[in-house]
Amino acid sequence: MARYGFLGLGIMGKAMAVNLVQAGHSVTVWNRNREKCALLLELGAEAAATPADVATRSDITFAMVSDPAASEALCFASDGVLEGLAPGRGYVDMSTIDEDTSRNIATAVTDMGARYLEAPVSGTKKPAEDGTLIFLTAGDRTLYDDAAPALDIMGKKRLFLGEVGAGARIKLTVNMIMGGMMAVFAEGLGLARNARLDPTELLDVLAAGAVANPMFAGKGPLMLEGRFDPAFPLKHLQKDLRLAKDLAGDYEQSFNSGQAALDLYSEALEKGLGDLDMCALFKALTD
Ligand code: NAP
Repeated sequence: MARYGFLGLGIMGKAMAVNLVQAGHSVTVWNRNREKCALLLELGAEAAATPADVATRSDITFAMVSDPAASEALCFASDGVLEGLAPGRGYVDMSTIDEDTSRNIATAVTDMGARYLEAPVSGTKKPAEDGTLIFLTAGDRTLYDDAAPALDIMGKKRLFLGEVGAGARIKLTVNMIMGGMMAVFAEGLGLARNARLDPTELLDVLAAGAVANPMFAGKGPLMLEGRFDPAFPLKHLQKDLRLAKDLAGDYEQSFNSGQAALDLYSEALEKGLGDLDMCALFKALTD
């Protein structure tokens, strides 16, 4: 049975690593803040002192960290993944990052004879817990095949999209759309309140019509109740909108509605709401 490594036990990584351990796999874990390893160790995972140690002990090492800077740190820092990988070993970065960062990591990993797969995910905390994420992968096809059993424990669907960068581009495009939808949804709920409507009736009308979607249905009641526990931290969606803006710039694609959403998310971040759920944009707009 393959030995897995897992780096980054935040909201997503913890749930994903738990599923690997509970499926009976040998998993070695590391998190910058060691306290977050506790649950995994209780469930039978092993702890390693550094990302390099994880990569040394694992056939395939998975990573799930915040942003491009975190992915680079994991890989390139002293005691980073590159120091532990060996020819033939696999490194799968599932964080939402930009194409350039993913390519830099891919080049460093493949230059030493190891294999790299980018695998950002669609889905949030609950799908991570339920093992129903969607993997948007690109890179080494043999690693995709070798990682498939693990991906199928953590997710319900996986796509192989070709060369490194394709996964990053589609993930950022999805989140650009999601950020825009949430921005206009939050303003619409605010408008309903201020225009002397019952916002729960607005939710009912939306749910019955052509713009019905799981995000409005799931987040809408939480927003009206002021419940913003993070499933997808607001700071990460602001990051994704920033990266999507750069992507749009690379392809000379207009980004007007994306920019409006980015501005609103940046203001919410400045108000200190970054660690709340991304639907706390409603709080930023209405408090
Ligand atoms: P999170 O709860 O904020 O966890 C972030 C993780 O990154 C933590 O383990 C954190 O370590 C680690 N980290 C941050 N900076 C680091 C550094 N410089 N070096 C090493 N580790 C570092 O975030 P999350 O919600 O799990 O999201 C993880 C990734 O998945 C992000 O790229 C996000 O955009 C993406 N994503 C999230 C969701 C979602 O719904 N939450 C959905 C799809 C994709 P510490 O614990 O030490 O801070």
